[in-house]
Amino acid sequence: MRANSIDSAAKPGDAAIRALSPDTPVAELQGVGPKRAAAMAERGIVTLRDLIFHLPFRYEDWSAVTPIEKLAPGAVVTVAGELGIVTERPMRSARWRRLAHAVLTGERGAKLRLVWFNLPAYMRGRLPSGEKVLAHGRVSESATGGLELTQPELRPLSMGEPPPIRPVYRLPASIGQNLLAALILRALDAVADKIVGAIPEEIHRDLKLGEALRYLHAPPADADRAALERGESQAHQTLAGDELFGFELALCLERERAAARAGIALAGAAQVSSRWLADLPFVLTAAQSRAISEIGRDLEQPRQMNRMLLGDVGGGKTLVAFWAALRAVECGCQAAIMAPTELLAEQHHASFQRLCGNLGIPAGLLTARVTGAARAATMRTLASGALSIVFGTHALLQDRVRIPRLGLGVIDEQHRFGVFDRARLKALGAEANVLMMTATPIPRSLAMSLFANLEISFLDELPPGRTPVTTTIFSEDDLGRIEEMAAEELRAGNRAYFVVPQIENSDETGEDEVRSVTAMAERLRKGALGEFKIAVLHGKMRATEKESAMRAFRDGAVQVLVATTVVEVGIDVAEASLIVIIAAERYGLAQLHQLRGRVGRGRAASRCILVASRGCETSAIDRLGVMIACSSGAEVAREDLRMRGPGDLLGARQTGALPLKFVGLVRDARMIENFRALAESWLRTDPGLKSPASQGARRAIRRMLAHGFSLGDVG
Ligand code: ADP
Ligand code: MG
Repeated sequence: MRANSIDSAAKPGDAAIRALSPDTPVAELQGVGPKRAAAMAERGIVTLRDLIFHLPFRYEDWSAVTPIEKLAPGAVVTVAGELGIVTERPMRSARWRRLAHAVLTGERGAKLRLVWFNLPAYMRGRLPSGEKVLAHGRVSESATGGLELTQPELRPLSMGEPPPIRPVYRLPASIGQNLLAALILRALDAVADKIVGAIPEEIHRDLKLGEALRYLHAPPADADRAALERGESQAHQTLAGDELFGFELALCLERERAAARAGIALAGAAQVSSRWLADLPFVLTAAQSRAISEIGRDLEQPRQMNRMLLGDVGGGKTLVAFWAALRAVECGCQAAIMAPTELLAEQHHASFQRLCGNLGIPAGLLTARVTGAARAATMRTLASGALSIVFGTHALLQDRVRIPRLGLGVIDEQHRFGVFDRARLKALGAEANVLMMTATPIPRSLAMSLFANLEISFLDELPPGRTPVTTTIFSEDDLGRIEEMAAEELRAGNRAYFVVPQIENSDETGEDEVRSVTAMAERLRKGALGEFKIAVLHGKMRATEKESAMRAFRDGAVQVLVATTVVEVGIDVAEASLIVIIAAERYGLAQLHQLRGRVGRGRAASRCILVASRGCETSAIDRLGVMIACSSGAEVAREDLRMRGPGDLLGARQTGALPLKFVGLVRDARMIENFRALAESWLRTDPGLKSPASQGARRAIRRMLAHGFSLGDVG
């Protein structure tokens, strides 16, 4: 296995390599032909910059060689010896897989079998048989009782000593660890010092990017391997910081640009909307009043509103959205209110009828369930401008929907919508004001940094008179008692959710009996809840099946819903007074909080029961204790951050939409805030980023945009 086995003739030699720049295509590196270049491109590695920013995801210790006589099963080891002939044969169980094996003979003649299930493509035909090698892998017991090394990595001794801490990369097809590492080191030599970061020299505080990259690809012997693997080394922080600086700069610039964008001014007299507020059967919370005046001020301006309403579950965001919609209508415009599911859209439509029905404002519903004549009529009246307010799902974004006087678009549970959908809503009305709403629990300061391109209103107060949800922790052994409590609750006319982590039981373990939707539903039907109607809900059901299960639960046709976490989204079932969360220790606190928000929406005192698995660690139970101590999303989020648990601060999808490769939202929360401040102060120094010192920053922003990240879509 030589590191660079395909060299094309016309590649630059060592001297010319110094002329390479970070933007040079990898194909110009010695050892990279068209096939390898294509494989790298598949992984997003096109230039030398991409290559050196392709970080190891793991580090191995190859420094200690274990004698073959001293191996113990289960250990991950490095052994040395001479590699015999490698033979391959089809596996009996699966014909398309081939089992490869070879014998490694150690110093004193001890032999060890090496086994690969499917030889990695880059090894095929290039195994250094007959050479002295190091082999690194896990020791296991073979079927015949002896020891073997499974799926080992090989390194010929002729390549020299391995690095003390060996980086392990995610590999492009047909490129091995040794080759990739060698290519990266060569690229580092050529261009690491030419990398210009986003942070201007004069405010620079950390390592240089080039030094940080060298450290990460070739850590010194005394580096902290655990910190490297957790992404917590100083070098990681340097990369994250530079990335954050560019990101925050981009957001701040976008916010300035958006503030200048033309938008429909909703400045007419506030007659309907203010009368409606005065006639509401309850008093607005102070937070609702504040949000309403902030939104009102935005809407009056002849500029497009881009505002995020961030509020705890049950905080009353819908009411604020209705008020904004009424403002649009009384100013002669139309409003569209979009929700991620049909049920939520129906729910909003129904609440609107209940709260605003007597205003005589034409409002309609447009989801996939609305078909035939009703659909045609809705589309027609929308297009003519006669329909003032429309509630809907993605169905609103279809090409044929026309809303000619769209003055306001509301996106509820915006984190559930893709970037693309948000862009489409804006396309419906280029000058329409946009209000996004989310109940993602996130501390205020972090929200301000992550959504720095948007205006934010916080709804951090629950309406009065809510009976707080009582949260209790039980053990799996108490399930019988919990079921009796549920039965009592149901007999009183209430409804209950059971949330479990998986859809079906896995075969291997019998102890999973209550961890799956199917098993739990079965158990409840046959046992304590036999007299009630039970429905299931999970991600593998078709959308229509999911909706109909949820609908049956909402309408009371079933009293128990056994579900996976798909139940999370903002549905409001006032009669639901109990939620039981099985294996609660598996979830992040923020997610538990959202689940808990499914109950406590009506008059009945509600309960949330967190069921800890048998044998779950005390630290996990302590973490669940936060749920008892904290009732608001902000408190939970703060604790979640502090404890740095599995953390699901923002859904994975949302994180994926951010152009942040090196930043952990939870891990680096503090940093995010600091770098926002740094970016803002730099923009005051160099407002248009015109000075030479901002050259790196300009480039970083351009690169972010080039990678398909549109700033208007971050929120
Ligand atoms: P979320 O912010 O989670 O979307 P909703 O808008 O669904 O919350 O509101 C939850 C419930 O609280 C609804 O039933 C709503 O009518 C009610 N509500 C909203 N504002 C108030 C208020 N100021 N006083 C009392 N109840 C309110
Ligand atoms: Mg809501």
